[in-house]
Amino acid sequence: MSEHKKRGTQYEVVEKEGYAGGIFFKEVGSVCTELFVQRMAKELSNVEILKAKAERVELDGSIQVSGRTLKPEVVVAAMGVECRKLGVPVTAVKGVGHRVSSPKKLDTPVIVYERSLALVSFDDWTKITSGLGFDFSPTSEDSQLDYAKGFLGELKLIDSKVGFRPCSPDGLPIIGRKQNVVVVTGGFRLGWSLAPAMGRYAADLALGRVKEYPYISRYVKGTHSAYLK
Ligand SMILES: Cc1cc2nc3c(=O)[nH]c(=O)nc-3n(C[C@H](O)[C@H](O)[C@H](O)COP(=O)(O)OP(=O)(O)OC[C@H]3O[C@@H](n4cnc5c(N)ncnc54)[C@H](O)[C@@H]3O)c2cc1C
Repeated sequence: MSEHKKRGTQYEVVEKEGYAGGIFFKEVGSVCTELFVQRMAKELSNVEILKAKAERVELDGSIQVSGRTLKPEVVVAAMGVECRKLGVPVTAVKGVGHRVSSPKKLDTPVIVYERSLALVSFDDWTKITSGLGFDFSPTSEDSQLDYAKGFLGELKLIDSKVGFRPCSPDGLPIIGRKQNVVVVTGGFRLGWSLAPAMGRYAADLALGRVKEYPYISRYVKGTHSAYLK
């Protein structure tokens, strides 16, 4: 708490029966990958940024992309569920994020645990996160929207986005290196929260500071070269 005070973070201590206590952060942070990439492109020198789909990855580290063959010292494969094409055991656990407008707003976020449903109201819309099925289909129809009406009243759907959470056999991240390929995937339901730590672990492997991690590297042993089409 003293650390938050020092930093000037806006927070409130909240008490709720049945809970040990909580901290409510008044300013919600947001993550924008595109802005992050733009900033890194400005800050890093001697770097070429190629936004394209890699077509093939080889264990020696070479990759085919946009008709070129690149031969970096190390390739980091952070392709979510697509890492399965390299022989890494991850599957997709599909989720859908809906933005809706509604007559009612929620004062605090609501999580309906048994339905894997989360509702969070922002100034102009409410975010509904739903779905936890082993499913690679791209469709976003969702019967949970009807259930959400119980909290929000009649809903108007603004848009929906489908995502595939990369899930390993034990639900933990997979981070390891085979020859010149570092694999980092398996963030499952916590991929955003774990991303800074997973990125650091992967960077240490790529830079040769660490050879492997005792538990989370074991599923990388079967990684092979592959086309990613
Ligand atoms: C609805 C929903 C809500 C979620 N909520 C939360 C949450 O509140 N907190 C949390 O921590 N996590 C949350 N998650 C989980 C989180 O989104 C994932 O764990 C995380 O996105 C996984 O990150 P990743 O980078 O491993 O994979 P991805 O996010 O899937 O990214 C992989 C990237 O690789 C790219 N790619 C694939 N193939 C290639 C190729 N051949 N060449 C180049 N690029 C390629 C893809 O285009 C993609 O951009 C949620 C997920 C869903 C679906």
